[in-house]
Amino acid sequence: MSTAQDLYDCIVIGAGVQGSFTAYSLAKRGKKTLLLEQFILPHSRGSSHGQSRIIRKAYEEDFYVHMMDECYRLWKELEQEAGVSLYRQTGLLLMGPENSAYFSQTRETLLRSGTPTVSISQEDFSSHIPHMLLAPGDGAIVDVTAGVLFADRALKTAQDQFKKLGGVLRDQEKVEDITPGSVVTVTTASGSYRARSVVITVGAWANRVLASTGLQLPLEVIKINVCYWKEKTPGSYHVRNRFPCFLLTEGEEAQEHIYGLPSNEYPGLVKICFHNGSPTDPDQRDRQTDRSDVDILSRFVSRCVPGLEPEPAIVESCMYTMTPDRHFVLDVHPQHRNIVIGAGFSGHGFKFGPIVGQLLCELSLGEVPTFDLSPFRIRRFQGQSRSAL
Ligand SMILES: Cc1cc2nc3c(=O)[nH]c(=O)nc-3n(C[C@H](O)[C@H](O)[C@H](O)COP(=O)(O)OP(=O)(O)OC[C@H]3O[C@@H](n4cnc5c(N)ncnc54)[C@H](O)[C@@H]3O)c2cc1C
Repeated sequence: MSTAQDLYDCIVIGAGVQGSFTAYSLAKRGKKTLLLEQFILPHSRGSSHGQSRIIRKAYEEDFYVHMMDECYRLWKELEQEAGVSLYRQTGLLLMGPENSAYFSQTRETLLRSGTPTVSISQEDFSSHIPHMLLAPGDGAIVDVTAGVLFADRALKTAQDQFKKLGGVLRDQEKVEDITPGSVVTVTTASGSYRARSVVITVGAWANRVLASTGLQLPLEVIKINVCYWKEKTPGSYHVRNRFPCFLLTEGEEAQEHIYGLPSNEYPGLVKICFHNGSPTDPDQRDRQTDRSDVDILSRFVSRCVPGLEPEPAIVESCMYTMTPDRHFVLDVHPQHRNIVIGAGFSGHGFKFGPIVGQLLCELSLGEVPTFDLSPFRIRRFQGQSRSAL
């Protein structure tokens, strides 16, 4: 049974990628930190499980590209510190209607940032990217520095480094209540803990945990069907054969992104997902059985990736927590400045883990953050966030 005797500098709630990197950043700064997780680790019920995530600079907005510049450096630093490999460069092939806003702005942003790129014409496409078809009218550009992050390994590495630095990680400790104050009290079924500040990084459960602080955010939790597609000829889409990650901004099948990663984690299987899903309750995720996204993907695979079987061989589950504008929430609580919130990572937050961790650490220490956080402020939601329940 825990007691309230120890005073922590910070308690981080939720040991997904964002909470684990926040705790690690705090411990690196010599802060006495407690990281609490509701489930036994590792688990596959949140948003950070699985073996792979895309890392890229291909974004419409300059602020993400600037954050990624620093973030690549932090990923490298962690790899060196821990002596593990967390990233494999494959490049990211960005495709989309040449004149569409998303495709052209992302290409512009990439070029403006000086990121190494290769533009591929319609005529040259099949010699650069065999086994894939580019739709008429679509443009193609490769973000050369992009690649695959080994997600499960990265999460474990951040947690291990945190513990090596003296941090305390307790799993199977579901936070049931937060009592704000100059010293914040966090209560779980096992006891209560006190800290000068608290960081809430609980993914799809954000509004449940925020309820005890009197805040609700306009977040929507959706279930993602994570689909793996079988190669007709083994090796055609393998990472060793230089097949890249890809992102189609919009296509014949849907206006929403479709993205894929080369076959690697499961031999002979390529991960291709739709960047949207159907609303779900995080505690009852698998009750959401809508597969319209899988139908969209089947049609896309038949049309553009003809070397794959058009039915998924494996379908796993994951969740996105969406904000209305799909930008993150990185901010202090409007009423309690020592409660910091990292939420709404909208299906693209993993690659930012190290920099998000650093920024949430800075906010929890009352420091001026190293990046301009105005795109991520709670006040942008105006009437959409309710501060009194
Ligand atoms: C299929 C899929 C593909 C993706 N692909 C990419 C990609 O290619 N590139 C990319 O950058 N991003 C990608 N993402 C997004 C990225 O994985 C997420 O943005 C990120 O994992 C969110 O992390 P998190 O820490 O906010 O949430 P989570 O990982 O869900 O962590 C929150 C943690 O808080 C815990 N928790 C909740 N409530 C409590 C409580 N009361 N007490 C204690 N603990 C609690 C949960 O159990 C959980 O462990 C993808 C996501 C999915 C689902």
